[in-house]
Amino acid sequence: MKVLYKSFSVLLFAALLSMNFKPPTDKETMRAIGNLEGLSRVLQRALDPGQDFMLIRQPKDGDWLAEHKETGQTFAEFVYANPIKPNGGRNTIYLQPLGRFSESQGPSLNMLKAYAEAFFALEVNILPTIAIGKSTLSHRRNPYTGNRQILTGDILILLKRNRPPDAFCTLAITMEDLYPHPSWNFVFGQASLRDGVGVFSFARYDPKFYGEDRTKDCQKLLLQRSCKVLVHETGHMFSLAHCIYFKCVMNGSNHLQESDDRPQLLCPVCLRKLQHSTGFDVAKRYRNLIHFYQDAGFDREADWVSNRLKWILDE
Ligand SMILES: [Zn+2]
Ligand SMILES: [Zn+2]
Repeated sequence: MKVLYKSFSVLLFAALLSMNFKPPTDKETMRAIGNLEGLSRVLQRALDPGQDFMLIRQPKDGDWLAEHKETGQTFAEFVYANPIKPNGGRNTIYLQPLGRFSESQGPSLNMLKAYAEAFFALEVNILPTIAIGKSTLSHRRNPYTGNRQILTGDILILLKRNRPPDAFCTLAITMEDLYPHPSWNFVFGQASLRDGVGVFSFARYDPKFYGEDRTKDCQKLLLQRSCKVLVHETGHMFSLAHCIYFKCVMNGSNHLQESDDRPQLLCPVCLRKLQHSTGFDVAKRYRNLIHFYQDAGFDREADWVSNRLKWILDE
């Protein structure tokens, strides 16, 4: 996912140098997870990859790691950077719908809320929809495609101004296409970690955007993609950098196929970071995710988490 970050942040638009990414060795990967001594038995099992995770592969031409220099972020480096965590006063994730989300036009907002709640184990609230036509947001017609696009900077200013006092972060989500600057063709999203605000478009995850017919699985595919983008981008708000250790929802993505190949879930390195931030009970979180995946018809994920949980709990 190409997301332009303002000010300091996880650097997503890395230098366009020729990259020679080498997948980390087993030893480097275990070092990234870190020493598990002193953790509860359940957490130790949850952070032990066992046989359940695929190591990252050598990237192909055009893949994220072939084009972007990523040095990785071990658990210890994450902790050392003293990332912003949810706290007593700021512990709610807010979703700000921008423009229409309808049955035929986008993923279900309630499903996105339910997924973020299960994934981050925090309260998630949906703010009242902002109608594009009635807003003061700058917009244009894309010079090539002719579709409407909204200027991301205006959205971030609006989110910052309207930020609820208990917000850990506020994420605007939209089926509108976005642009960050008049000279850009488009952008998938933009965020400011410092301000805890971001905006992401699902428009280009909808086959309809490319003029393709809506098949009966289209809505499910759009929900799968949107769920993945939502937790990836929200993960950045918790200061999780791109993952270079396992196949993981925090892997960078340069194109739709790479994004579709990413799993929905966090690898042990990234799971440990998020657990450190929010202190969730890993077994309870996995149970909630199983319920969500079953409700959403994400059978593969429901099976994977069920088997993983049995292994963690030694059942
Ligand atoms: Zn990213
Ligand atoms: Zn990861």
